[in-house]
Amino acid sequence: MKRICFLILVACTIATLNVHAQVSISDTAKTTTQAFDVNAATEHWLNTLTPAQRAKSDAYFEGGYWLLLWSTLYAILIGGIFLLTGLSRGIKNLVSGISYTFLQNLIYIFIYLLLAYIFLFPLNVYQDFFREHQYALSNMTFTAWLKDQMIGLGLLLVFGSLIFTLVYWAISKTGKSWWLWGAGIVIAFAAFGAFIAPVYLSPLFNDYKPLAEGKLKSEILSMARANSIPAKNVYQFDASKQSDRVSANVSGFASTTRISLNDNLLKRCTPAEIKAVMGHEMGHYVMNHVYKGLFETAVFLVILFALVNIFFQIIVNRYGNRLGITGIADIRGLPLLVVLFTVASFIFTPLTNTMVRTQETEADMFGLNAAREPDAEAHVDILLSEYRKIDPGYWEEIIFYDHPSGRNRMHMAMQWKAEHLNDCK
Ligand SMILES: [Zn+2]
Repeated sequence: MKRICFLILVACTIATLNVHAQVSISDTAKTTTQAFDVNAATEHWLNTLTPAQRAKSDAYFEGGYWLLLWSTLYAILIGGIFLLTGLSRGIKNLVSGISYTFLQNLIYIFIYLLLAYIFLFPLNVYQDFFREHQYALSNMTFTAWLKDQMIGLGLLLVFGSLIFTLVYWAISKTGKSWWLWGAGIVIAFAAFGAFIAPVYLSPLFNDYKPLAEGKLKSEILSMARANSIPAKNVYQFDASKQSDRVSANVSGFASTTRISLNDNLLKRCTPAEIKAVMGHEMGHYVMNHVYKGLFETAVFLVILFALVNIFFQIIVNRYGNRLGITGIADIRGLPLLVVLFTVASFIFTPLTNTMVRTQETEADMFGLNAAREPDAEAHVDILLSEYRKIDPGYWEEIIFYDHPSGRNRMHMAMQWKAEHLNDCK
């Protein structure tokens, strides 16, 4: 569903958009200070994982590379079903009695999204439910999983229908320059999604409540004040109902910006480790990553829409009759548009991952300086390796990683430690 619904997901997940640059480790070993060997310390942390643990997380994460390819091919297959079996024409005929084109398009899009979700369900249930259990990474019963899916489907039907209907409205009003207006509409929804997600969307999946008063909360708020973050509260949410993964996030912007940490982090990490994680999240806020992420997404979407427009025209000029599509304004072409967006987003995966990974690296650096807990950071990186291969190749990281690898994060932490031997705890 993630690929097919790329546009909607952009709108809904931009709130946590983060980014980061590859950490070059080639030269840093030479800058080892005093008796502290950065590379040896990094290796020490890597060796705290058993071969069995590494084999398991490598297999899980590398399987994700293939799933990226299979899900794209599967989305193309579904597009083919809509276009080549007459299904798309059938839906259009069903709604053609309705007087207003705007309404016709809205209902077509609603039916299309619902059917696409049903067609994608087998892959979805394998990827998000059975595979997660296979690797012991999920705590969800099938019923609970299905409940979250239905909430997601509801959001998809509401926001997806609205976004695509507005894009087709823009096509009817602006003609050849539709792609620019279409990108603008999606960007506006992305900004809207970033604004409403933390307050209205995230609580649909998890319960959020203020973190209990105490030493930890006052230390986190003290860190926030020290970094000019006007946070009055810190929230915790019950992620343990989904998995044991530790995570936190800074989401939203303007008045809805908030720092949240999950209950797994509270249960599994020491106060020093929690501070290391919160330092990272505060880095996202201080460095305005939500705004920068929105700007980068805007540039990316304009390019994406322009390319999709070009290839749509080429395909319809050649195969329009066979596919039953008369032009860009024809709603029967929606499955083709979605296939093109899916393929383009697949091809640009290394670029979008690098955009996100770059911000994540920046936040890591900020977090180390804010929390001053390099060993705690390294231990958190070990915990994160449960679902992310810890030591990938150079290009593997650039192509597939939306966060820096555990090795690079730990190396960065150990480098920081080496340069602060006399002043850190
Ligand atoms: Zn982050």
